[in-house]
Amino acid sequence: MSSGQFDEGIPMPDERKVGWTVSQSQRLRELNATLEVQDRRFPSGKKRNEAFLELERFYVRQSRDRLLKLRDERRRPKLCTLEDTLIKALTNAGFVQVVTPVIISKSFLDRMSIHPADKLSRQVFWLGDKKCLRPMLAPNLYYLLGELSRIWEKPIRIFEAGPCFRKDTAGRRHVNEFTMLNLVELGLPKEEGRKRLEELVTLIMKASGIKDYAYASHKSEIYGTTIDIVSEMELASGVVGPHTLDSRWGITEPWVGVGFGLERILMVREKYRNIQRAGRALVYLDGERLNI
Ligand code: ATP
Ligand code: MG
Repeated sequence: MSSGQFDEGIPMPDERKVGWTVSQSQRLRELNATLEVQDRRFPSGKKRNEAFLELERFYVRQSRDRLLKLRDERRRPKLCTLEDTLIKALTNAGFVQVVTPVIISKSFLDRMSIHPADKLSRQVFWLGDKKCLRPMLAPNLYYLLGELSRIWEKPIRIFEAGPCFRKDTAGRRHVNEFTMLNLVELGLPKEEGRKRLEELVTLIMKASGIKDYAYASHKSEIYGTTIDIVSEMELASGVVGPHTLDSRWGITEPWVGVGFGLERILMVREKYRNIQRAGRALVYLDGERLNI
């Protein structure tokens, strides 16, 4: 029986307590109500509706206050400040920031062994036959490592933070455009790869303000296996080289690399119920819904 069938004001026995209506539930999700609030049940429709109005007022006021602060305290969106914080942390750790093209050639994807039948290939936004919006940073970083190997002595430490694009089915954890931070260190003793990867992950997680996370092995179409960093959801995937793809990019020494999704980090840190709130949006500004 749907909650809408209960008469307002009539107390219900416990087992028939009423939950939110569909539209109330949707509004509470929009306002990022906690799961506890979203699961609340009430003895009557009247009580539920009163509670809804009070909660809506509370969340709307909270969002308005935050948006006012954004303006009055000259704050920047959390996605930008997170990116800045991580850039500083990596620069302090001896990594060099690089800025590479968002539009890449098909040959770069081919060199990554991304085949037309692969899931990732079907997620690519093509610009004509030969170019696409980058779905990942790895090919550009691979290319640069090959070039820099001739110029800098090892270890070579570089990273990029910037937009990536995938036709991922929209859901709570996927958006079509997201911000990847990919770091890579080339030229370390092979046996130290995993340890070094964990040191670098610790650095990023600490700077991000994420305390609870775990490592998990994951099958990957491109890399065979990745070491994923998980905190409620996958936040990053790491690889300990050397890898069979390396020779195509002129890479001959062991390396480690890891790519973090900044919107996912923000989602976990800020307890956002969906990733859209953390990313590039018109419906939200810095995580706050604008239809308030
Ligand atoms: P998932 O399996 O969760 O779709 P993935 O393994 O395909 O992720 P990777 O290729 O490992 O993703 O990319 C590195 C990181 O980039 C991910 O761990 C995630 O944090 C982020 N990421 C990837 N795709 C998306 C997306 N569509 N929206 C938001 N973040 C994403
Ligand atoms: Mg992954």
